[in-house]
Amino acid sequence: MELTAEQEAVREVVREFAREEIRPTALEADRNQEFPEAVWDGLADLDLTGLTVPEEYGGYDADPVTAAIVNEEVAYGMLSVATALSVHSLATSCLAEFGSDAQQERWLPEMAEGRPVGAFALSEPHAGSNPAEMSTEARREGDEYVINGEKQWITNGERAGVYVLFAKTDRDDPSTVTQFLVPGDVDGLTVGEKEDKLGLRASDTTSLTFDDVRIPAENRLTEEGKGLSAAFHILTGGRIAIAAQSVGLAQCALDEAMAYSQERDQFGGPISDIQTIRHKLAEMATRIRAARLLTRDAARKRAAGSAALEASMAKYFASEAAMFVTNEAVQIHGGYGYVTEGEVERLYRDAKITEIYEGTTEIQKTVIARELLE
Ligand SMILES: Cc1cc2nc3c(=O)[nH]c(=O)nc-3n(C[C@H](O)[C@H](O)[C@H](O)COP(=O)(O)OP(=O)(O)OC[C@H]3O[C@@H](n4cnc5c(N)ncnc54)[C@H](O)[C@@H]3O)c2cc1C
Repeated sequence: MELTAEQEAVREVVREFAREEIRPTALEADRNQEFPEAVWDGLADLDLTGLTVPEEYGGYDADPVTAAIVNEEVAYGMLSVATALSVHSLATSCLAEFGSDAQQERWLPEMAEGRPVGAFALSEPHAGSNPAEMSTEARREGDEYVINGEKQWITNGERAGVYVLFAKTDRDDPSTVTQFLVPGDVDGLTVGEKEDKLGLRASDTTSLTFDDVRIPAENRLTEEGKGLSAAFHILTGGRIAIAAQSVGLAQCALDEAMAYSQERDQFGGPISDIQTIRHKLAEMATRIRAARLLTRDAARKRAAGSAALEASMAKYFASEAAMFVTNEAVQIHGGYGYVTEGEVERLYRDAKITEIYEGTTEIQKTVIARELLE
């Protein structure tokens, strides 16, 4: 699929930044479980923290295809960074799509500049695939809402200065899910310890506990009861972002595997001369290309209107492609693929999350079948 000259130009800039500034930090950031903040500032300098912020608030306001390209390239550098960026962008998207003028003016110019970092707090310990089962409550009391409950698995949980929160205005009524903005410094909010994860280790994933947190009623982002449809609308864009990140991560693994297969000699020549290895590379490259095309197709549909079917197809296919490709990349590296000094070991661990967050593969298939049949 052809890109416009501007999209190609963006790709080149982000590609260079990802390869020269993000990727070199990945090994240490993964090892220490520390987010590379200097990289975040670099993304802000490139206007990428304003990816989904309207221009009038100083953002880049990228079209969905450009956003997909940015996600792909950043994930080539490191998935933890791309995930932090895409979740921050989910938060700015919520504000841009549903916020009042006053809310947008208060938050978007600063978030476009990169700080405060945004987070998207939907999942709970007992409500993941089915967020309608959430139990966090924001009960109206005069000019305030009083929030009680717990969120789980929140990306940017520790780094964020503002949370887009989904809570019920009546815990016993599933139809009351509502979207709110919660500043990070409110009394009664406790950020949990960072989860110790298989992959995505430089990304801070935490719980959030709300204990009688009071926010002004004007911090409500959607009408009462409109929160869940808002979340699903925003997550359609998020799923395209994760699909694009899967493609970028897989491309990095393929590039590593191709280079290694030409350097590594066995049986008197490079292993890239062995037909089995060549077929692996062929299959990896083909799946990546198919995933990229599905992702760009979903992004184009999103630009033109609704893309629930295409976004779920892209995320399902691309995340499985990332698992397949990183597995084969480790295999092609043999023992050297299994140790932590190499890059493919981290890519293999990182890839797994793409099949889980923002809707598991099973949930994507459920959406696809529903869209086909209804
Ligand atoms: C690193 C990380 C970062 C995350 N970041 C965020 C974030 O920023 N914000 C946020 O709100 N959430 C976030 N999440 C949460 C993530 O979106 C959920 O983990 C995911 O939606 C799955 O929910 P669950 O873990 O509760 O699994 P469950 O819903 O308990 O599912 C368990 C298994 O059952 C399957 N299953 C469940 N229901 C069905 C069904 N109807 N049909 C078929 N299979 C089904 C699932 O596919 C899965 O295999 C993050 C998670 C992780 C691990």
